[in-house]
Formats: sequence, C-alpha cells, structure tokens
Amino acid sequence: VVIDGDAGVVITNPSALVLDQYRERQAAQLRARKKLQKLKKTPAITRDGVQVSLFANIELPDDCPGALDSGAEGVGLFRSEFLFMGRAGHPHKIPNEDEQFEQYRKAVVAMKGRPVTIRTLDIGADKPLDPTEHNALNPALGLRAIRYCLAEPQLFLTQLRAILRASSFGKVRILIPMLAHAFEIDQSLLMIEQAKAQLREAGHKYDPAVQVGAMIEIPAAALSLPMFVKRMNFLSIGTNDLIQYTLAIDRVDYEVAHLYNPLHPAVLHLIAMTIDAGHKAGKDVAVCGEMAGDVKLTRLLLGMGLREFSMHPAQLLAVKQEILNSNINALTSKTRRILRAMEPAAISEAVEQLQAL
Ligand code: PEP
Ligand code: MG
Repeated sequence: VVIDGDAGVVITNPSALVLDQYRERQAAQLRARKKLQKLKKTPAITRDGVQVSLFANIELPDDCPGALDSGAEGVGLFRSEFLFMGRAGHPHKIPNEDEQFEQYRKAVVAMKGRPVTIRTLDIGADKPLDPTEHNALNPALGLRAIRYCLAEPQLFLTQLRAILRASSFGKVRILIPMLAHAFEIDQSLLMIEQAKAQLREAGHKYDPAVQVGAMIEIPAAALSLPMFVKRMNFLSIGTNDLIQYTLAIDRVDYEVAHLYNPLHPAVLHLIAMTIDAGHKAGKDVAVCGEMAGDVKLTRLLLGMGLREFSMHPAQLLAVKQEILNSNINALTSKTRRILRAMEPAAISEAVEQLQAL
C-alpha cells in the first residue's frame, strides 16, 4: 500500500513501476529533510535582516522533543484538549487538576525555558470529548471551546489552576480559543484571577505575570479587534477555523473540501487586519493554523507583516528556509497589491509569483 499524504491518495497493490517511483520520491524527501536539519540552529532572519519567530504546535507533552528537534523557539500552540480526548474506559472522563498539572509541567520542563503557549480546552465539533455524544445540529456553531468552558466553570477553573501551577516551572502563556464577545474575554480573565486566588489560598506557586492571549478564529473577532487588543496580551490567528467560519465550509466535510480556500480575499483581509491591528496596539500576533506551515504561503504572510509562525514541527525547517530566502521589502508592496485583488485566479497567480522574488 502506498499512502501519498501530499496528494491525499492511497494506492493499493501498486505496480512495480509505481512502487519504484514512490521509493525514489521517498528517498529524495529524506535527503531534503536531512539537508534542512542543517538549518536547525540558524536564526530565522530574512535577507534584509528582519527577524521572524518560529514556534511549534503540539498535542501532547511527548511532542516536545520533536519540537526541539525542529529548532522551534517554543510552543506556540499546545492543543490541551488531547489530554481530555480518547479517555473511554478510563475511570475519570476528565483528567483532574494534578494529572493535568503534571502534563503541563512536563511540557514546560521539556521545552527548557522556552515559552509554552497552552490553549485552554477547545472541545467540541471536530474535537469531541465523547464522539458517541453528538446531539447538536451544528456542533461547529454550538457549545464548544470557551463557550463550553464558561458553561462548566469548575472544569475551566481546574484547568486554569493546573496551567498556572505549571507556570512556576518556566514561561507559560495562556491562549483562549473561539472568543467572539467582550463578556467572554472578561469572564475568562476573571476566572484566571479566581484560579490565581485559589492557588494562593492553597499555597501553590504560579507566575503572577502570566500572559493571556486570544485565538482570532471567528470573523466577528477579526472584525472587532479593538475589543481584543484592549484586554489581551497577544493574539494568535487560528486560520483553520477562521476559514471555516468565514466561508461557511465545514472543515471536516469532505464534500465541501474543494471550497475551503485560504486565499479567498475575505480570509486574506481578516488575517491582514488582525496582524495590523495587533501590531499597532503593540501586541504580538501569531498565526497558528495550518497556513503557518504551508511553505507556499510563507512569503504572503511575511508580506502581510506576520513575524510569528506556529506550526507542526515537521514543517518548521522548510518554512525557515523560505524565510531565509525572502526579502520583506520586496514582498510588502506586492502583498499590498494582492490584498487589493478580488479575482481568485489573479490572487493565486500573484501569490505564486512571490516565490520568484
Ligand atoms: C485553528 O483553528 O486554526 C487552530 C489552530 O486551532 P484548531 O485547528 O485546533 O481548531
Ligand atoms: Mg481552531
């Protein structure tokens, strides 16, 4: 069986010829990956001297060695829900505070002083807590992520205490998913303060200056950025959901997968606006959705002003190579033109042309 992840195809009983071709491609890929390893310690600086930060996305603390091996400056997105999923048969459906604390601490210690951005529970829709409990008609629009956490305050406080306790072992940042409303931000921040007070009472240590950020992944959030930058320390753009909600395309529905287009002008505008508004307010802005790890989009994102990328560790060195070969000066004006374009064909052609700069 040949599994071609790039093309998204599986070939059963391949002929000798097909098998040979794939073996050759596999060997070439291994050679390319080895070559990229040489860039592991090279700082991600463009040809015209602009420094870019590259972070890794992880799902479990065991992913940290892979993140370090890719040369990541830290973890830009720890998808904490993976600690809560797949626990069928486990005596407790939800990991308790100590269990969670141990996992967060493990990740923080493994990253050896580098920042670890822990996203609070993003459960529901494509990441169900219990796949057998599917009763919402539109789970992606339902009680998920921060909405679920605010509806289950004890569960949220437990997680916040566990994350805060881990913050005394290294640099931890808290990232809140799926925010759209000011009251959701305010309630989240209030609950973080409540969790801190509970820890003080219990005699536990935590970093009192822990940074709190918002995922910008709902169009409403990208269209009301002053509400976010006023309250939050940093922003992280979740392009996977931002595309889903902007284009009304279910990200896990195969039948509409062809309509899921990161280069749709509406998506590009929302991303560019978020980067601009965040930077104008003096806040760090990252992209942590799949767009950040797509080398074909690295130059476009650089041209939009993005200086912080977070992605699957397997993509990191290829993106770094792209950054090392880029010239921001040249990219900025071309990107501005792309943002003014409305025709899909013209946009994809112009994005391809950025590679030639
Ligand atoms: C995103 O939505 O882009 C994101 C990074 O989060 P997730 O894919 O886990 O929803
Ligand atoms: Mg998301």
